[in-house]
Amino acid sequence: MDQTKLRIAIQKSGRLYEDSVQLLRECGIDLRNVKDRLKTESDNFPLEVFFLRDDDIPQYVEDGVADIGIVGENVLLEKNKQAAVVEKLGFGKCRLSVAIPRSMEYEGVTSLQGKRIATSYPFLVNKFLTENLVQAEIHEISGSVEIAPGIGLADVVADLVSSGSTLFMNGLKEVESILQSQAVLVKNSSLGKQQEQLLERLLFRIRAVKKAKRNKYVLMNAPNEKLKDIISLLPGMRSPTVLPLAEPGWSSVHSVLSEDRFWDIIEELKAAGAEGILVVPIEKMVM
Ligand code: ATP
Ligand code: ZN
Repeated sequence: MDQTKLRIAIQKSGRLYEDSVQLLRECGIDLRNVKDRLKTESDNFPLEVFFLRDDDIPQYVEDGVADIGIVGENVLLEKNKQAAVVEKLGFGKCRLSVAIPRSMEYEGVTSLQGKRIATSYPFLVNKFLTENLVQAEIHEISGSVEIAPGIGLADVVADLVSSGSTLFMNGLKEVESILQSQAVLVKNSSLGKQQEQLLERLLFRIRAVKKAKRNKYVLMNAPNEKLKDIISLLPGMRSPTVLPLAEPGWSSVHSVLSEDRFWDIIEELKAAGAEGILVVPIEKMVM
């Protein structure tokens, strides 16, 4: 019997952990005992899950200890390992930014010349400085980078930012964005044929889950004389479904709307005479 399993590395705890486990679960993959474990297996998909520090994931995937992994682009690019991105996952969004004390004057990257920069991302920061022809001193620290200027360890920092509230609380302001990042699925560069096939199956599910999240199922009632106008507003997968209502002269119209234009279209539908509009989440969407 074929016992081939796909081995995936995900973060053991931290900002990517919940979303990574949830993504696998939404793909219909049952995981037992995920708490405080180094690894676990699924009963209903040939998947073995390794729980690791995010910093180690690119190396494990490059070495083939894990076939695939979920990691932030920031870590992947910083570690500079041979692991190919197969899919952006849409969570763990943040940016690597340069931030300076609010009182410091800033006239562009040249203001960083000769400064001491505290960061956990020496490789990416060095690349940024080189590209901008700026010479500065990089101080690598592994955590709590944002307090470095306050304690005199550095003049400025380069750190991950999402809302900016941590920077603000530490008297810093963001002045340059070095990298936009999100969680990505990466793979080892020489996967075997069976692993590739399992990865394809997993990717098919991931894409269906992602697509469903970007779309809503919409139902509404429409007077028959307005149907034509209403239908013309709906993109739909093919054309919308139209069903007669018990009340003569009315129909029920069903369609799928993507989130990019969702509110605009809902407003237009109302204006065109649609009533009782219901919006329902979609769990999976297979094209
Ligand atoms: P580990 O113990 O696994 O090394 P960590 O402390 O290095 O964890 P976390 O803070 O859990 O890492 O962040 C993991 C990833 O989450 C980051 O590398 C980044 O891709 C993403 N992320 C999203 N938003 C933020 C943010 N505001 N600050 C830090 N990381 C963020
Ligand atoms: Zn880490």
